[in-house]
Amino acid sequence: MKALVLEEYNTLVYKDVPDPVILPGEVLVRIKACGICGSDVHGLDGSTGRRIPPLIMGHEASGIIEATGSEVTKWKIGDRVTFDSTIYRLDDWYTREGRYNLSDNREVLGVSPGDYRRNGAFAEFTAIPQHILYRIPDSVTFEQAAMVEAAAVALHAVNISGMKTGDNCAVTGAGSIGIFIIKLLGVAGAGRIIAVDNNPLKLQNALKNGAEHIFESEDKSLEEKIKAVTGQRGADISFEAAGKSETVNMAVDAVRKGGTVVLIGNTSKVIEFPLQKVVTKELRIQGSCAIRGEYDVILKLLENKKLSVDDQISAIAPLSEGAMWFGRLYRKEDNLNKVILVP
Ligand SMILES: [Zn+2]
Repeated sequence: MKALVLEEYNTLVYKDVPDPVILPGEVLVRIKACGICGSDVHGLDGSTGRRIPPLIMGHEASGIIEATGSEVTKWKIGDRVTFDSTIYRLDDWYTREGRYNLSDNREVLGVSPGDYRRNGAFAEFTAIPQHILYRIPDSVTFEQAAMVEAAAVALHAVNISGMKTGDNCAVTGAGSIGIFIIKLLGVAGAGRIIAVDNNPLKLQNALKNGAEHIFESEDKSLEEKIKAVTGQRGADISFEAAGKSETVNMAVDAVRKGGTVVLIGNTSKVIEFPLQKVVTKELRIQGSCAIRGEYDVILKLLENKKLSVDDQISAIAPLSEGAMWFGRLYRKEDNLNKVILVP
């Protein structure tokens, strides 16, 4: 099959590789669409340590079942599917507790952090365990289904935040995940939605997708401005989707006393943490990792047209042009949102 292979750091090559071999409990998926994630772009130069070459990246995908293993019962050849990015074990304590996203020995599709290598979906075919598959409704396209992973990560953060209807929410970082958080806060009936970013174009995107107030992160009076639109208290919940010291501190400043800060962005290993503010404001700091079954809800929202994803797709391009598109995203050209590659 053809695949886009990260042969060494900063070198993506479109080439022939052996077809994946499926295990008895796996299906072979003919990939129809695979989105380029920010984590793939960051992984390109080795800075994250999570894409050690050689590797086929890609974890935001959809396709058609081409073959099924001998133990596959609920799926058949020709089914239109998307799948979780986390490959988890069923015989794990966390999985049995209903928290499969935290399971021991979990692997992420298209990732190789050193202790495992799991080839992903920038290829004609990918082997996928049957228990992480989801059926795509007829009215949802393969390209839309490739957006489900990012939207599900955002929904997990909203779900874990404990947000109630009418809660005022601030989102720091208006990239792909931040925008989906903003959209889903709208669906879930949030009060005021406030977006903070350092890029004016991203803030305009936030405004179009449901943010009521947008603020530049350089704004020295950010905290006062957020208070001014939230009854002089601050947001009830803030969602941090950038993962840097400055933005985490902003997320802490943005919430009221007794509020919740949900941390999703994780580009930094270590940050400067505002201990005294967190203690004296009695904040709840809540990490949010990946997805815990939010696929079905996102697919239903797409089917019912309650959530739009097309507006976040900047380009749909052949997989053979993958190296060029990765380059453009890496160089932050043209303010691209999601780029989807088609084998
Ligand atoms: Zn991703």
